[in-house]
Amino acid sequence: MQEKHYRLLFLSTPVGALGSGVGGGVELTLQNAAKALIAKGHTVEIVAPEGSQTEVTKLTQIAGTAQISAQTQVGTDVVMLPQNSVLENMWSYARDTQHQFDLIFNFAYDWLPLYLTPFLQVPVAHWISMSSLSPVIDAMISKTVELFPQAIAVNTRACADTFTAGDRLMIMGKGIDVSQYQFVSQPNAPKLAWVGRISPEKGLEDAASAAQSTGLPLHIFGLIQDQAYWQQIQIDFPKAELHYEGFLSTDELQMKLGQCSALLMTPRWIEAFGNAAIEAFACGVPVISYRSGGLSEIVRDRKTGFLVDMGDVDGLIQAISQLDTINRLACRQQLDAEYSLEVWGDRLEKWFSDLIENYSYYNLWRKNI
Ligand code: UDP
Repeated sequence: MQEKHYRLLFLSTPVGALGSGVGGGVELTLQNAAKALIAKGHTVEIVAPEGSQTEVTKLTQIAGTAQISAQTQVGTDVVMLPQNSVLENMWSYARDTQHQFDLIFNFAYDWLPLYLTPFLQVPVAHWISMSSLSPVIDAMISKTVELFPQAIAVNTRACADTFTAGDRLMIMGKGIDVSQYQFVSQPNAPKLAWVGRISPEKGLEDAASAAQSTGLPLHIFGLIQDQAYWQQIQIDFPKAELHYEGFLSTDELQMKLGQCSALLMTPRWIEAFGNAAIEAFACGVPVISYRSGGLSEIVRDRKTGFLVDMGDVDGLIQAISQLDTINRLACRQQLDAEYSLEVWGDRLEKWFSDLIENYSYYNLWRKNI
């Protein structure tokens, strides 16, 4: 542990309440980052939209209208802010309280926080949780790293490579609280799992198709974000045994996920990371996924799962037939070696310490111009 203890303000995603599932993997990422840094003696306050819940640390709830999810704005060249925007209100809170903190940690995938970075008197670290989706945010990321090198982090190399300024982004990886997940050496019955927001970019139809062909039940965990899409899948794959389990707490999720033979992750976009994959590993569950995006950096083909080309349902089916060649312990071992909260906490702490130190030089420079 380093000597300095930082006071950190975490600003959650403005697309929905923390704990609702609307924010996807970023909700778990934020809470795990808080846990990792608190364990190192730092203090963390979380600011999140009204209705949020967390047991990790002090939470300040902010009222206002939720931001539209970036994945519905692919390719757009405009930024949108609703009337009485919760994003705007969260950043007003950050402006008013900034002097109580050493650093602000932003989890919004949005233009406004990037733009505000040079207007604040404390350094801002940005967690960019999705790949490049819109030119207007991509351009603002380039401008921000120009002024503040090291201020922006992503999970994986694959995610960084989708941005114009990709070679200037920090690759931070991820960590989860291993103690929350129980390793299961053998599932209680052959069955498949699929975990994620039910929304077209997550490609549930490919997993449903593989389930229909193999005759294995597919247990689906996650928030239904697009009801019409979900209904269409049930129409398109009438013989697939699909069990919708709802959006579960981490504890309930890990209990059920651990009893599955494999997790199918079939995204039809460049998945920046794929939290569900490392949660599956923690339970000893191999991951069958596409050789694309962050998942190609997480899954070790034929060791902790299988990688096939995007959209190759026959490849998924073949991988399912070879699941008995995977040692479930290897999955948990990869998790322990690469994604522990302790190692991730060290990385985050070093990142923040560099940013805080460099920011004082930036301020000196700013005063002299
Ligand atoms: N999740 C959950 N309960 C569920 C299903 C999913 O808590 O029933 C969480 C899961 O733990 C993961 C997130 O939803 O952290 C999905 O994140 P991922 O990175 O896989 O995809 P994203 O939604 O960010 O695209």
